[in-house]
Amino acid sequence: MTDVMTRAVSTRPTTAMLPCQTEAADLFFSERPADLEAAKVLCADCPLRRECLEGAVARSEPWGVWGGAIFQAGEIIAVKRPRGRPRKNTEITATATSSSAPAPAAAPALHGRAA
Ligand code: SF4
Repeated sequence: MTDVMTRAVSTRPTTAMLPCQTEAADLFFSERPADLEAAKVLCADCPLRRECLEGAVARSEPWGVWGGAIFQAGEIIAVKRPRGRPRKNTEITATATSSSAPAPAAAPALHGRAA
């Protein structure tokens, strides 16, 4: 019985074995999307990933990477967007691009005669 308990305790990972404790912990709470993606990669091999994610959801963690997921304002998001406003000239660029596109080819000749 003691042997079983010893094995169970010894197989449980310690905090020193967790990637978020051994790697740069700042990655997990960074504002930079690239850092958060790197943290997600580190979580992928964590032996406590599922429990970590379940706990973060239960606690409604406000932010950070937990269990391989990015939390923002208590919600899981797929990808963190970079800070700052989106570009205003997106529509202008799209319009400029479409107007500079080559003109459509001339209509094909109809029944051997030019249209
Ligand atoms: S899954 Fe949780 S415990 Fe494991 S590395 Fe990621 S944040 Fe740390």
